[in-house]
Amino acid sequence: MTILAATNNHHKIEEIKAILSDIDGIVIVTPIDLGININPNETGTTFEQNAEIKARAFYEVAGIPVIADDSGLEVDQLDGKPGINSARYAGIDVDDKANRTKLLSELNFAELVSARFRCVICYFDGTQTIFANGKVEGQIINDERGSMGFGYDPIFIPDNYDITFAEMDSISKNKLSHRGDALRQIKAALSLRI
Ligand code: IMP
Repeated sequence: MTILAATNNHHKIEEIKAILSDIDGIVIVTPIDLGININPNETGTTFEQNAEIKARAFYEVAGIPVIADDSGLEVDQLDGKPGINSARYAGIDVDDKANRTKLLSELNFAELVSARFRCVICYFDGTQTIFANGKVEGQIINDERGSMGFGYDPIFIPDNYDITFAEMDSISKNKLSHRGDALRQIKAALSLRI
């Protein structure tokens, strides 16, 4: 089975390929591989809705099974923000650094800043829709540490660790992460189908 990983984010693509490519009989392709260049409007109000919007939009164009990821960071002190707006927290077309800087400026580090990453993966093949919901709990720190990963990785330390996601190699991050969690659930569901 060939599955389109419906994202233009090369970090997400690497993580998706690392986790799903070892299922015998599954080949993961990207929008670039198929010459697809779309950027669906994420008009939903939940990770689930936005993941399904992306999965259906890419399926319309590609006509093959699709998995789409919608993910983000929820900070308890900010009542769950940036949440579904994680990619655009400091504005449209800003970089990850600007999003982190805005977030850090809003936090009170006199207390522990608890947070979690969430990831919803939506699989859609024209008939069947499967959702998987992954999360990882942790805390936000006030200084950036590490150069791996992307997004909020340099300021997020998962529970029971003392290094950020950006200080972790990709294998370790994938074992712990929200995306790894959701993708392993999808993997279990797909393994039953092939
Ligand atoms: P999406 O592309 O609309 O799903 O937005 C995801 C955004 O959430 C990314 O641009 C990052 O800012 C953040 N995010 C999601 N997953 C991760 C992760 O694994 N590490 C760091 N930031 C992440």
